[in-house]
Amino acid sequence: MPEDNELRYDPAAIEPKWQQRWASDPTLYAAEPASCGKPKYYVLEMLPYPSGQLHMGHVRNYSIGDALARHMWMRGYNVLHPMGWDAFGLPAENAALKHNTPPREWTLSNIAAMKRQMERLGLGYDWATEIATCLPEYYRWNQWFFLRMYEKGLVYRKKSKVNWCPECATVLANEQVIDGCCWRHETTQVDQRDLVQWFLRITAYAQELLDGLDKLDGWPEKVRTMQRNWIGRSEGTDVDFFLEEDAGEGTEKTRIRVFTTRVDTIFGATSVQLAPQHFLVERFTAADSKLKAQVDELLEQQKKAREAGDLGAIEKHGIPTGHFAINPYNGQRVPIWVANYILADYGTGAIMSVPAHDERDFEFATKYNLPIVQVIKPADAAVAPELPFVSEDGVLVNSGEYDGMSCVEAEKKLQEIAAAKGFGEATVTFRLKDWGVSRQRFWGTPIPIIHCESCGLVQVPDEQLPVLLPDQIEITQQGGSPLGRVPEFVNVACPKCGRPAKRETDTMDTFVDSSWYFYRYTDAKNSSAPYDPAKAQYWFPIDQYIGGVEHAILHLIYSRFWTKMMRDLGLIVNDEPARRLFTQGMVIKDGAKMSKSKGNVVSPDEMVGRYGADATRMYALFAAPPDRDLDWQEDGVAGVSRFLARVWRLATKYAPLARSSGGQGVEAPTGISLKLLRKLHQTIAKISQDFEGRWHFNTCVAAIMELVNDLQAADAQLAANEVPAPVVRELLRSLVLLLAPFAPYLAAELWEDLGEEGAVLRAPWPVSDPGLAKEDELEIPVQINGKLVTVIRVAADAAPKTIEAAALADEKVQSRASGKKVVKVIVVPGKLVNLVVK
Ligand SMILES: [Zn+2]
Ligand SMILES: [Zn+2]
Repeated sequence: MPEDNELRYDPAAIEPKWQQRWASDPTLYAAEPASCGKPKYYVLEMLPYPSGQLHMGHVRNYSIGDALARHMWMRGYNVLHPMGWDAFGLPAENAALKHNTPPREWTLSNIAAMKRQMERLGLGYDWATEIATCLPEYYRWNQWFFLRMYEKGLVYRKKSKVNWCPECATVLANEQVIDGCCWRHETTQVDQRDLVQWFLRITAYAQELLDGLDKLDGWPEKVRTMQRNWIGRSEGTDVDFFLEEDAGEGTEKTRIRVFTTRVDTIFGATSVQLAPQHFLVERFTAADSKLKAQVDELLEQQKKAREAGDLGAIEKHGIPTGHFAINPYNGQRVPIWVANYILADYGTGAIMSVPAHDERDFEFATKYNLPIVQVIKPADAAVAPELPFVSEDGVLVNSGEYDGMSCVEAEKKLQEIAAAKGFGEATVTFRLKDWGVSRQRFWGTPIPIIHCESCGLVQVPDEQLPVLLPDQIEITQQGGSPLGRVPEFVNVACPKCGRPAKRETDTMDTFVDSSWYFYRYTDAKNSSAPYDPAKAQYWFPIDQYIGGVEHAILHLIYSRFWTKMMRDLGLIVNDEPARRLFTQGMVIKDGAKMSKSKGNVVSPDEMVGRYGADATRMYALFAAPPDRDLDWQEDGVAGVSRFLARVWRLATKYAPLARSSGGQGVEAPTGISLKLLRKLHQTIAKISQDFEGRWHFNTCVAAIMELVNDLQAADAQLAANEVPAPVVRELLRSLVLLLAPFAPYLAAELWEDLGEEGAVLRAPWPVSDPGLAKEDELEIPVQINGKLVTVIRVAADAAPKTIEAAALADEKVQSRASGKKVVKVIVVPGKLVNLVVK
């Protein structure tokens, strides 16, 4: 029989109708002012880069956030749920180069396209707070913050390495270097060049960034661990070895500073190892062309490993320089080596090598036949330990007057002596480096500094902000910073002396934009400040932040730093941006990450076109727990769509009956009514609990499916009017409310069908009645010696003694236990009985 068109679930008709209605009501998803008196809830998904196309990872991320936002609205919260665009960056310049479209135009049209996709998905964003970081009303505040940091000494310039393509004669971003060559000149090797660049002093907050992680218990442990490692605090000692040849009378000895976490092993140092870039190496090679050639080779190896991204796994090579260093504690001379695995930008660029007590040093000394001197022995072991012996649980040997001291004791003593004699001190180092924010790019925030020949570096005065990007610019990605080729931009009068001066032509790293964007949402139209501190204080910290784990370090560390910096400027009072963080899993296809090259990309538009937005979103939540990877199966989307069609048929069939109840309440239900209401209230309890933090939305959707199955199974009784109208009303009404966070379009349609007033989004979330949810009887498995024997039925509230008696009275139990002795009975009320028999 052909399906009656009137009775067909048709998302292509339902969804655009509601989309239009929602768009015409700007208050629907709007946050209210603090004065509304409701508790606040700030839920945020990470803002996307406007590539022009949403991908399935976005759909998943936003479906999670939107379900949560809708749930919180229904729970009566004042919800802030905004969206914006991380709109600066290199792809816009690449597109300009390829298609000759100006970056601004390209970006804004991409934003419009993605916004249409989001609206079609029915995502409930407060578009009145929308931001795009490429607009002057936003990036002027990047400049303002830069100047405030400059005033506080948190901004500085220093020479630093950049990727340089000799063919393009310009700086390349890391992602433009492919296998060590320029992305546009495949056979041109990229050089490392020294360039003066701008840095933000994030290391001033290193300790606080580390300590704060302990308090972020609403963040995944995995993210906190990654941040701890990235910050990389280590306690140790700075010690100066002395260059032997300077040790003559009256001359200041040349110091070679090393950092060590194990100064207690210093008597076992058998060499000093320098980074190839160390200043002494330059001195040594100046008079030794053979050594110079060898060092150049080490530099080349280091460069290759750096480009390949596996500096940590570099095959270790070294060269003796023929020079010697003096151990300051015992005057012993040790050879100085240059090695490719010592990094100039880590620590001091020099280490002492103690092969007997360090894995890496042991490996190196074995390879090059360097002496290995044991200076620590296990505290209470008679036998010699196997080397390297790296434990700190030991005592010193071969260490002169320190012999017999414990490692901990010796460390303290040796630090005191270094400080007293002026050749070292206890110190803490961090792996975290200051944040290089200079980019020789066009499509970014111009750095608000002016270079004047007489005054030096001059801040752009606040009243001259924003420093606007020029409108028209030819993007060639050749010949240096693009802004440098725009005379109207570069040439400016010095704000101090009025003489001709030049603007800085570097722009800022786009991670600056995303470091504070979520504060701007609280006051997106403010033209006199980045935001009103009172508004930020009301909304912050973010209650739930949701995004990909790939942001665990850069974005999530930079934005924590920015929060602390703004707090110290007196703009906010919170120490951390987000109370809770959730990192969703990836969306994959056929076991692999979706990518154009693999041809396994599933387009959201296609899914929405075929199955509707509700089915697409609900599938994204249903197919896997949100923190796991999701393997996209179109069959699964079709299945969810069929489920929604069943809901639609059921609800439209019985909506007239529900409406006929005239809003009467349910009275003491029995029989099938009680059975269905019990299932309903159990489902409400489960889903409500999951929203509290477990977030197993996949099982939430499964629970709704079970409820619908039960309702369908009762179709004959419903059709025969065996269930009173008020019960039918409660069943359908609650079903729609439970669906609302997951399938908002269908919920809105059915809500209206049921004769309910107002937006379903603003209707109170159903509350589970524990009396109704409770089962009369429970089935409890009974085990003998851990093996399942039978299942007994007992009253749901039966006492353990009663359950035990019922188990012992069971026929199967009696036959199995006959002739044996029951030595123990374990009752887990509501769950299990286990008998131990012998
Ligand atoms: Zn090139
Ligand atoms: Zn000047």
